[in-house]
Amino acid sequence: MVQLTKRSLSRRSVLLGAAAFAAGALAEAAPSLRPANLPGAVVSPDPFLSNYATARQARQAAEGRLAALLNAEGPRPPGIEYYLDRVPADLLTTPPPGLSKPVWGPSVLNTFVSRGPQDRPMVALTIDDGAVSLDETLKVIREERAGATFFLTGKYLARRKDFLQQALETPGVEIANHTWNHSNLSSLGDDQIREELTRFETMLADTVRGASSAPFMRPPGGANSERVVQVAAGLGYRTILWTISGDAGTLTPDQLVEHYLRQIDRRTEVVDGQVSYRGAWGSIILMHFRPGTCSVLPDIIREIRARGMQPVALSRLYEDGRT
Ligand SMILES: [Zn+2]
Repeated sequence: MVQLTKRSLSRRSVLLGAAAFAAGALAEAAPSLRPANLPGAVVSPDPFLSNYATARQARQAAEGRLAALLNAEGPRPPGIEYYLDRVPADLLTTPPPGLSKPVWGPSVLNTFVSRGPQDRPMVALTIDDGAVSLDETLKVIREERAGATFFLTGKYLARRKDFLQQALETPGVEIANHTWNHSNLSSLGDDQIREELTRFETMLADTVRGASSAPFMRPPGGANSERVVQVAAGLGYRTILWTISGDAGTLTPDQLVEHYLRQIDRRTEVVDGQVSYRGAWGSIILMHFRPGTCSVLPDIIREIRARGMQPVALSRLYEDGRT
């Protein structure tokens, strides 16, 4: 069930916009990519939307349903949960101009994560490195109105002030620390680990006034250790690994899309004859700035949305005090 907080109630108009978008997204869901391996898997038609002859009528009905829920003091209208489960709570039809980064104390920073909070239909889109395909990838994120966290490597970005600026001006996008040299942090001493992280942070702060890569750090190659986590935490970073990955090899574009979706669909369940993607909520998706990945990124974003989830930045996944 989507959590409706006071804050989201005050954003009623945004949610209504979300309902309209969701109605469209439902209509475009791609059945060929549904998990065929689940016995009895049937994607039931939305009980509200399927009763209407046109998309416009369906949208109006959806908005009415959502408005009724938001205004309801007493019991919720019957069946509304079914619909709301399919509304990406965060839909961001108008993404917020800036992301509010989580503020974590030492006990949280000292834990690494490979998956985020699972209470909302969101996945974090994280894109690493940045030697190539920077502008093309940012363009896709912008055009698709998705959110993303870019884990950038300093040595690739030192001369790309324009890119850093553009990325940070893109709604829903944030920059995180993937070290200066892309070094294997677990093989370095404490001071060298600190140097790798602070050199990146200093470059970013010097390039874009007020910018910071904290509190997200990803060790290159996922080379993690208790010491890496602790040293990073001492600098205000939490170590972020991932749930879903796989664009580092030589898969064709079609294979790449299927490879990612298979990992999402593997986490689905059939509940009362309906496919639920809740098992994939909170996943942290790892990709890289690569031409092949960039070319299929719009497809992957659309397929994530067709499964009722919204691709967002880590700060969005962890907003409102989540840990
Ligand atoms: Zn990397």
